[in-house]
Amino acid sequence: MIRGVTIYGNPILKRKSEPVKDIDSSIKRLGADMMETMYHYSGVGLAAPQVGESLRVITIDPRNDEFGPRVLINPKITERSGEVIGEEGCLSLPNIYGRVNRNLTVSISYTDLEGREHDEEWTGLAARIALHEIDHLNGVLFIERLDEKQLEGLRDQLRNMKREHKELEKIGPQIIEKMRGI
Ligand code: ZN
Repeated sequence: MIRGVTIYGNPILKRKSEPVKDIDSSIKRLGADMMETMYHYSGVGLAAPQVGESLRVITIDPRNDEFGPRVLINPKITERSGEVIGEEGCLSLPNIYGRVNRNLTVSISYTDLEGREHDEEWTGLAARIALHEIDHLNGVLFIERLDEKQLEGLRDQLRNMKREHKELEKIGPQIIEKMRGI
């Protein structure tokens, strides 16, 4: 099922998500729904707070032949190295883009939907998406990682978006028109 996406201004995006204790049917359903929602919006990653669930679950698919789609439960960065600047967008911040400095390579541990533990090394786009999505689980948006100059240029757009969605947040996550981001 495609779920609505929470937009900037919704307080769930500022909250720290809770660890998943049991991979029960509701978590399996959440993982499947997040995959479907991510593809529906042409995203390459999604975090549970973006569909209104304050849980440590993320999905990722960098659309790379060597890197298949994954659902990650309780993901954790255990090592990081290198730095690289790349452009990011976010499904929760429609039409906002910025250049963000991230680690080039990360070691990441997580549990999959079958309960298997993984410890992997990711680099490039996969590492960037993982860092962006894990930020979501900690209540951090990519705009908080932009330099002052970029942020200044986005200030009016962000203020309007926050105002516009302040009323909508009472209804919950929104199904929005086609867009791109993570
Ligand atoms: Zn995002």
